[in-house]
Amino acid sequence: EHQKLKRLKGNRAATLDGVVVELHGNIELPQDVAAVQESGATGIGLFRSEFLFMNRADLPGEDEQFEAYREVAEAMNGMPVTIRTLDLGADKPLAGLTAHTLNPALGLRAIRLCLAEPKLFRTQLRAILRASHFGQVRILIPMLSSLPELRQTQYAIEAAKASLVADGIAFDPAVKVGGMIEIPAAALAAQSFAERMDFLSIGTNDLIQYTLAIDRADDSVSHLYDPLHPAVLQLIAMTIRAGEKAGKPVSVCGEMAGDPLLTRLLLGLGLRSYSMHPASLLSVKQRVLKSNSVEAAAQAGKIMRGHEPDKLQTLLARLNA
Ligand code: PEP
Ligand code: MG
Repeated sequence: EHQKLKRLKGNRAATLDGVVVELHGNIELPQDVAAVQESGATGIGLFRSEFLFMNRADLPGEDEQFEAYREVAEAMNGMPVTIRTLDLGADKPLAGLTAHTLNPALGLRAIRLCLAEPKLFRTQLRAILRASHFGQVRILIPMLSSLPELRQTQYAIEAAKASLVADGIAFDPAVKVGGMIEIPAAALAAQSFAERMDFLSIGTNDLIQYTLAIDRADDSVSHLYDPLHPAVLQLIAMTIRAGEKAGKPVSVCGEMAGDPLLTRLLLGLGLRSYSMHPASLLSVKQRVLKSNSVEAAAQAGKIMRGHEPDKLQTLLARLNA
């Protein structure tokens, strides 16, 4: 089976009826790029940059970050490399930078932390922008919840660009900026984000956590963590539709993207871009290759209209048959 999957590496990911799907890899550190290349991914959909900051005593400066981002951009040889700005806090704490609050998942984390620490954010933005001169780098903003926050973020990006211009340092002035949709409010307002950004990426791990009020790191409630909850599926479907309407690509980069049992459901909801751990990529590609997008859409519609949990499993099994 593994050998059979490996033969799919060079195949284009397209459905039986010719719908092309992007399959990208998630990485935590530059050394993970090898596995992404080995998987036949056509890009990196999520570079969790906070891992450059973890498990060390000091913070990486602009040059060190730039070298890491450039290494990945160059290795991917013109394919998209989506670098997510720092997503520290909650399940990814960092001593000295993130405070342990009573409720870290709802606290000063990710983009909130970056906007509260302008120097930290500017250093990272400059490093990412500098790397954009060496490949197809895209910037991805985690945990957006509101438009004022987006405006502040865009302002910070413009300011980082201006500082590079002033220093005479090269970068791609057209670098694309996308937003993670992982807070229910952002999914409900996805249209506004889609209109103002170049692309969206749905972080299902956090979206499920916040929609269902299930701490993703708390084992005592893990049995309630349900990617198929109708509310979760509605928010995903809304976000995909918002992207279609605004003409902006939408991808899923949470764990749902790497589950072959959900490939067809997401395809049926209109998803055309998946980003996942490279180990899942060929299994997901195999599902795409065996799917018909029109049939998947019809079956996904049935799943969206049904609200009986026991029927859901039957419908999902039928979709995957
Ligand atoms: C997510 O929330 O789905 C996601 C992709 O980001 P992370 O798991 O790093 O929070
Ligand atoms: Mg997340």
